[in-house]
Amino acid sequence: MSKLVIVGTVAFDTIETPFGKTDKILGGAATYIGISASNFEVDGAIVSVVGGDFPEENIDLLKDKGINVEGLEIVKDGKTFFWSGKYHNDMNVRDTLTTDLNVLADFNPVVPQVYSDAEVVMLGNLHPMVQMGVIEQMQNPKLIVLDTMNFWMDSALADLKSTIAKVDVITINDEEARQLSGEYSLVTAAKKIMEMGPAFVVIKKGEHGALLFHKDEMFYAPALPLAEVFDPTGAGDTFAGGFSGYLAKTGDFSFENMKIAVIYGSVLASFCVEKFGTERMVNLSKKDVQQRLEQFKKLTQFKIH
Ligand code: AMP
Repeated sequence: MSKLVIVGTVAFDTIETPFGKTDKILGGAATYIGISASNFEVDGAIVSVVGGDFPEENIDLLKDKGINVEGLEIVKDGKTFFWSGKYHNDMNVRDTLTTDLNVLADFNPVVPQVYSDAEVVMLGNLHPMVQMGVIEQMQNPKLIVLDTMNFWMDSALADLKSTIAKVDVITINDEEARQLSGEYSLVTAAKKIMEMGPAFVVIKKGEHGALLFHKDEMFYAPALPLAEVFDPTGAGDTFAGGFSGYLAKTGDFSFENMKIAVIYGSVLASFCVEKFGTERMVNLSKKDVQQRLEQFKKLTQFKIH
C-alpha cells in the first residue's frame, strides 16, 4: 500500500450555520483529510499535535479509520487548537470568530521514521513553517500537495511563499487564490501561482466546484448540487483528502489522472457538508462513494448529435 503523510490541524471547532450551532466538536484540517483519504487503500499517517484536553475517543475514531497516529503528539499540559466560525445565509461566506493556536504555536512536527519514505505528502492547513519542517524530513516524495488559507497569508506570507516554492500541487479557494496572486481572474491567478513553484493549481469554488490548472491546460469539475447543505466546514480539507488519497493509491500524477482526483475530491466533499462536523464522513460506505461518482458522471455527460 502507498504511504500518505498528512499534516494539518487536529482541532476543536464550534460552528454556527443557519441550521444550528455545535458545542466543541472534533475538527481540524488533518482530521478531515485523514478521514477522507481513508476511503482509498492507502496507508495514511497524521502528523500533528493536540493538548491533554483532547479525548481519547477522538484518537480512537482516527485509528478506527485505519489512520496511523504515531506522529500525533500529545502535549499533556497544553490545549488543543481551537477554531470557531459562523456561516452566513449564503454559506459560501463565513466569518472566523476565533483561532486559538494553543499547542500549535510551538509545534515541531516529527514524521515517524517508517513514513519518511512516503510517496505522497498532503500538507494540510497549518503554519507554513510546520509544513516546511515536514517536507525536510521526507526522503524522496513523488508528490507534495499543499493546502492553505488566508489566515497564513495574513500572518506568515513570506514563510508561505517559500513553502509553496517546494510543492507540486497547491489547493486553495478562489478568494485565497486572488489574495495570493493579486489577480482577480482565476485563470491569471493560477498562472501567477504556478510561477511561484507548483506545476498544478487547484482552485476550489465551494458550491461552484473546482478548477484544475497545469501549464496551459484547464479542467473544471462542478460540485454536486445538493438539496441540503448543513455545514460546509471541512469541505476543502475533505476535497484535499480525496484528491491526495486517490493520487497516492494510483501513483499516477499525470494531468489526466489529476482530473479524476479532482472528481473524487468533489465527491467526498459533497458528503462532508450534509451533516455537522465529521459526522457524515465517519459513516460513509464504499457504496455511497461509488453511487455519487455515478451521479457526477450523469451530471456532466452529454452527447452532441
Ligand atoms: P475548511 O472548511 O476546509 O476550510 O476547514 C475547516 C477546518 O480547518 C476546521 O475544522 C478548523 O479546525 C481548521 N482551521 C481553521 N482555521 C485554521 C487555520 N488557520 N489553520 C489550520 N486549520 C484551520
